[in-house]
Amino acid sequence: MGADVYALLLESSPKIVDLNKVFIKAGLPELITSLPKKSRVGVKVLLPNTANINYVPPTLIRNVLGFVNSLDHPAVPIDTLDVLDDGLETLARVNEVGYSFQTLQTPFMIADNITGYNFFEVFVQGDYLPRIELGTEFKDVQMLICLTHVTGDPFYGYFGSISHISSRSVTKEFKKKKLLANLRLEIDERRCNGCNLCSKICPVGAINTDALKIDANTCIKCGYCIILCPTRAIMLEESSRKMFIGKSLDVVKGIKRVFDERMFFVNILMNVIPYPDNMPFSSKPIVEDIGILGSKDPVAVDKASLDLIIKQCKYNAFEDLYGVDPNEMLVLAERDKIGRTKYNLVEV
Ligand code: SF4
Ligand code: SF4
Repeated sequence: MGADVYALLLESSPKIVDLNKVFIKAGLPELITSLPKKSRVGVKVLLPNTANINYVPPTLIRNVLGFVNSLDHPAVPIDTLDVLDDGLETLARVNEVGYSFQTLQTPFMIADNITGYNFFEVFVQGDYLPRIELGTEFKDVQMLICLTHVTGDPFYGYFGSISHISSRSVTKEFKKKKLLANLRLEIDERRCNGCNLCSKICPVGAINTDALKIDANTCIKCGYCIILCPTRAIMLEESSRKMFIGKSLDVVKGIKRVFDERMFFVNILMNVIPYPDNMPFSSKPIVEDIGILGSKDPVAVDKASLDLIIKQCKYNAFEDLYGVDPNEMLVLAERDKIGRTKYNLVEV
């Protein structure tokens, strides 16, 4: 039997507040009110880069926070630092992009603190990671609503619920030292036209275009070169990519261990651009806006999102962008009992 995925499709010209219909149909009020009195609900969002113009509007986040508040539980927007983030600059960015206290009416939490070090340990005994380090603030929330702007992603191929929680719940330090460690990038000499753009934009000077080599020890895995290479000549070395996906799924298993069934996943299929909102670029969408999906199952909501996008594009747009079929990760996630790839799409 498939997992239920509730869909607010744009064909019905919904308003932001209609997202609450998805929550109600999916039984979110019952889940929230079953929590101990006044316990906090974390609303996991991806803090966007100021250069990106396609990110999730603050009004939509405010609506989710307001829905939880109306059930007499405090809701907090929460994210962790990315590998290139400076804590103080990130706090300033919260205001610049409009995710401020004035708009959201609650402070934005940096789960691993402005240092990127604060964590609590979760033992997962996974295939690749024995333990993970989640941002400390996740310990203070009893439930997680993961609000994901679906886009492409240079490492996962596709940025959906699974890639969002796996890449942005562990601390900045854990990302650098464990999750992204061992990931290697390579240049396909048959595709490279020698334009040198990659070496110019690499923030750490890891690329030698004469030798067609990327120094794995210097590279901080920001993904800029993969995104900007005009001939798609830069890609992940296959065995290191498989290890990265395995580690990411170990992280999700750890998060599930903490929150168990107290998680809900919302995928926003609007302004679907080739890379996540934290990247310092903007681009036109790769597909027409579709709507918003919600489910208790992260695999099902990702699979339904992918299927709708592929149906709209009439080809696998993410595989076309990054040479990786995102369905592969969902099959592995199902094997790891993170969720189900079979789903029932219920229109609200
Ligand atoms: S950006 Fe791409 S095409 Fe240009 S030098 Fe780098 S790898 Fe080659
Ligand atoms: S991902 Fe590319 S641009 Fe980023 S640090 Fe590594 S080599 Fe440089």
